[in-house]
Amino acid sequence: MNAVAKQHLIDPEICIRCNTCEATCPVGAITHDANNYVVDASICNFCMDCVSPCPTGSIDNWFVVNHPFSLEDQFSWLELPPKPAEIATSTDALDEEASALLDDAHKTTGHVPAPATAAKPRINLFNRVNPALAKVTGNLRLTAEHTETDVRHIILDFGTVAFPVLEGQSIGVVPPGVDANGKAQAMRLYSIASPRDGERPNTNNLSLTVKRVEGGVASNWLCDMKLGETVQVIGPFGATFLMPDDQDADILMICTGTGSAPFRGFTERRRRTAPNARGKLHLYFGARTPEELPYFGPLQRLPKTLLTQELVYSRLPGAGREYVQDRMRAKGAEIAALLKSETLHVYMCGLKGLETGAEAAFTEIAAANGMDWAALREGLRKTGRYHVETY
Ligand code: FAD
Repeated sequence: MNAVAKQHLIDPEICIRCNTCEATCPVGAITHDANNYVVDASICNFCMDCVSPCPTGSIDNWFVVNHPFSLEDQFSWLELPPKPAEIATSTDALDEEASALLDDAHKTTGHVPAPATAAKPRINLFNRVNPALAKVTGNLRLTAEHTETDVRHIILDFGTVAFPVLEGQSIGVVPPGVDANGKAQAMRLYSIASPRDGERPNTNNLSLTVKRVEGGVASNWLCDMKLGETVQVIGPFGATFLMPDDQDADILMICTGTGSAPFRGFTERRRRTAPNARGKLHLYFGARTPEELPYFGPLQRLPKTLLTQELVYSRLPGAGREYVQDRMRAKGAEIAALLKSETLHVYMCGLKGLETGAEAAFTEIAAANGMDWAALREGLRKTGRYHVETY
């Protein structure tokens, strides 16, 4: 059993002492003295009501601790204490297996820093020796029954165990049994498809978008999970492919299939915290047909003011094959305008190979509009605004 607990804290360096959080908190967990605004860990119920009204974001700090910081501790702070990943468990050495998988997933870009305004991620809180136990509380097929593409929305609930995540992070699972060499199965990573505060606000769960791979050990095991079954979860992982918190950030998201998982998290986060933000979300999403496009139904219900959608199909009966890069070219003027903006962040996620077509489209669009894509991409990369995760 893990003794760690989640604690909500306010960053005294950023807080402007405006009292909005204390006035908003419905349970009276926030108080202040002459120095600081603080959160009483014994009262806070993680309702998040205080988060979006906070004008500075200083309220949005979630630590995983062995023992909660007292009010006296918090009143005395000039800054937040050191990051808590180090104090969460004694077995939280950087997970080499997960690092190797992530390095491979990010290898076309090399190391790209996290966006400057991304929240600080917690990583490696749980490992093979000390996994978090999550219960399957949802397993829903996202693709039409008559298609051969079986993609599932799987919800994992952590009960009372704190498993803090950010949009764009992944979790690890180890399927039961041994591999062909008689060794314990390797870890598989899955992107988190829900925002940091859960499938519904204030639920201690997360969702995955899992595709059943023919002959695949972990994907078949997960896709066959029954409600109430328990999964050992490792992680969370990923400290760079994260969403900017900056509400002015325009986010261009390019994906196929289960690559949509992190972008569902991004979209829900924006919808919940800043639906009318100046920055907009732009989705280029490829699938064979609408029936095989995960989250097709829910996507239809999202307002255009939040998310513009280019859903692209390569196997529509009676139509030519269209791929994401084709639609990017068709929307070249819109993409060129985004490329000129200082607030643009580009993300790609999906199968290996996705990037090749998108790169070619970016190169053409940039050249047609007097820009050099290679130079532009390098600038984006260096400032944490160009992220590729493929597997
Ligand atoms: P495996 O058992 O690993 O098999 C993979 C393929 O190899 C199968 O086609 C199988 O038939 C073949 N194979 C296996 N053993 C042999 C053998 N001995 N000889 C010949 N062929 C063999 N996936 C998702 O669905 N959703 C996600 O959100 C997601 N996010 C990811 C994020 C990251 C950062 C990474 C790195 C990966 C992600 N993946 C995701 C991929 C996921 O981790 C798994 O790789 C995927 O589910 C396949 O795993 P598996 O155990 O089912 O297949």
